[in-house]
Amino acid sequence: MVREDQLIYLDNNATTRVDPAVVEEMLPFLTDYYGNPSSGYGFAAKVREAIETARERVAALVGCAPGEIVFTSGGTEANNAAINSALQIDAKRQHVVTTVVEHSSVLKQCQAMKERGRDVTFVGVSSQGDIDPGEIENAIGDNTAIVSMMWANNETGVLFPVEKIADMSHGKGVFFHTDAVQAVGKVPIRVSETAIHFLALSAHKFHGPKGIGALYVNKRVKFRPSLLGGSHENSRRAGTENVAGIIGMGKAAEIAAEKLEEEQVRIRRMRDHFEELLEEKIGGASINGKDANRLSNTASVSFTGIESDAVLMLLDRQGICCSAGSACKTGSPEGSHVLKAMGLSEERLKGSLRFSFGKFNSEPEVETAASKIIEVVAKLRKMSAGARISAAV
Ligand code: PLP
Repeated sequence: MVREDQLIYLDNNATTRVDPAVVEEMLPFLTDYYGNPSSGYGFAAKVREAIETARERVAALVGCAPGEIVFTSGGTEANNAAINSALQIDAKRQHVVTTVVEHSSVLKQCQAMKERGRDVTFVGVSSQGDIDPGEIENAIGDNTAIVSMMWANNETGVLFPVEKIADMSHGKGVFFHTDAVQAVGKVPIRVSETAIHFLALSAHKFHGPKGIGALYVNKRVKFRPSLLGGSHENSRRAGTENVAGIIGMGKAAEIAAEKLEEEQVRIRRMRDHFEELLEEKIGGASINGKDANRLSNTASVSFTGIESDAVLMLLDRQGICCSAGSACKTGSPEGSHVLKAMGLSEERLKGSLRFSFGKFNSEPEVETAASKIIEVVAKLRKMSAGARISAAV
């Protein structure tokens, strides 16, 4: 086993390392300031104030008013809450439009609704993972309640034209929701300047803690909460607040906003260099979604003649963390639904890996990781060629 401090962590779309400044900000709320924010005494008011500071910081990161931020247990809950709410507003509008490449927190919800008889349209993508806005427009009907579309894909990093689709949906009187879990902290977002009605985010994707997220709810739209049982979050999400989580998310948002563009330039440079090294040294390596507008940190790479699980295992032994397709898929025999939707051949599907960079990565790590990947792929190809020859004799 490689020691933790020697790992090369290239799986930042799965989760990110919590920033030490975030931990420091959270600690007093796990120790001294344990009051319930709903209580009436001064001790609890301090906790309430800290929550409101966190709300302001999160709002600043996505460019909205603090009152439009509803804290949730994460991106999954925020996505579910937005879609559920839209379906409760108008009994005549019960159709949902989404895409085939959504994260499972949207996809599984939509698939379950379809199985229960609801009308759901799943729009496909091109070989680059792009969406055709015309197809979304055609899918929207008089009975459509909501269009739900991710801002950035967690597997390929491909960015969807959400602002354009939000305009179109809004113009047709349809709610527009975006799962921006992978975009927040990586692309500048001024949600108030768009026609987006709901936007989901998650702290652990931008160096905050796990189990805390938020839903932006445009102040002009009707919202029906999914979780009932209390008047927390201005009656939009019941349940005693995850205080330390909220404080941590606020700090992480503040840090992310400070150097967003500068950091993304540095990360893009590392990612591009990494992709160049693999493409140059490994025959048959190809970058999925390379020609699309992509996040700066994600490299989805397909290799021929190898299986990604074998690469993952050998890289793991050398202390390199990455994933096959998406992290949620590790160990699943199905393969990536995103890469399948892009029409990758069976061979490329089987040999695809995702590397995702973050602010704690360095250029030397990128060089080391690339040379180990080059070695591992060569070794596996040699082994499978050997196996083919012995099978033939
Ligand atoms: N949406 C996307 C695009 C994601 O990548 C993830 C997490 O992997 C989620 C939603 C779920 O967020 P959370 O882990 O906070 O529930």
